[in-house]
Amino acid sequence: MSEDERLDQESDFFKSTDKNPSNILPEKLVLDSPLQFECHPGVPCFTACCHNIKIILTPFDILVLRQRLGIQAHEFITLYTEPTYLEKTDMPGVQIKLTEEKNACPFVTPEGCTVYEDRPTACRYYPVGMADFHEGGTNDAEEDKFFFLVKEPHCKGFEEPKKWTIREWRLDQGVDERDEMNKEWLRLVMRRKSYGFQATLSDAAKRMFFMASTDLDSFRRFILESSFLDTYEVDEETLGKIKEDDVELMHFSFAYLANTLFGAEGMSIRQEKIDAKVEEIKARQDESLKKAEQDYLELKAARDRLTKEQEDGKKAE
Ligand code: SF4
Ligand code: SF4
Repeated sequence: MSEDERLDQESDFFKSTDKNPSNILPEKLVLDSPLQFECHPGVPCFTACCHNIKIILTPFDILVLRQRLGIQAHEFITLYTEPTYLEKTDMPGVQIKLTEEKNACPFVTPEGCTVYEDRPTACRYYPVGMADFHEGGTNDAEEDKFFFLVKEPHCKGFEEPKKWTIREWRLDQGVDERDEMNKEWLRLVMRRKSYGFQATLSDAAKRMFFMASTDLDSFRRFILESSFLDTYEVDEETLGKIKEDDVELMHFSFAYLANTLFGAEGMSIRQEKIDAKVEEIKARQDESLKKAEQDYLELKAARDRLTKEQEDGKKAE
């Protein structure tokens, strides 16, 4: 994959306005690289980047937005999002549903973003993208990451005099905190991407990924009201936390998905379930053994009959 293609892939994970990677400056930046940029209500393009865009929402984005709006996850999903596939994989997710009249984010007004303090990760990143050298983003090491600028013609923020570093910009935008909240989920998507389509993912697994990623209320019901707790060992402290705390539940969902989709460690199945499974396999093996024995005996009887018939034939001659 060329550098440009890679940058294009990384940059349009969260937010994209244009598929042309020429908007992305190929220069690799680090946390201490200088950045001359500012976005404020005085720029002539104010809110331009809140139109004609694709904004992918992470589970944490959905959680804070729906809490801010005081609605349930499924209401938020229905009213403000539409389905999409994540990062050119078959992993289902959601993006913000733009308005029909103006092709705009439903949260933008001429005065700016009405959910600014809780705006999605994508809006915090823009226009500084981040890429990770490490396959699947499985390493937190700073040296594995680099940054790049997405410079679109309509964005006049680069003409503003304010100078700072990438690190200061990210801190100002609250990106580091979002990265921390999103990283386990992003790893699931990146892992899926690196496996490619040759590794199949069942529809049930995709449905579970979608539910856990978009609707924590339903995921909580799944944990507490299905046979989940009969199957998995979940200690009382964790159970208490995931009953009450949405962020704890979200992290638990990531561990569960990593375990069920990719066999990662972090979830333990109850011993009695393992024993029952072993018994079931053993019973199936016993059954196969009995069947093989039966087949052998029938075969042997047929062969003996044939031998006897041949011997009787010879005697008669
Ligand atoms: S959430 Fe806010 S910042 Fe992000 S696109 Fe919508 S209006 Fe713009
Ligand atoms: S286009 Fe650039 S400067 Fe204009 S509002 Fe968006 S981020 Fe700010």
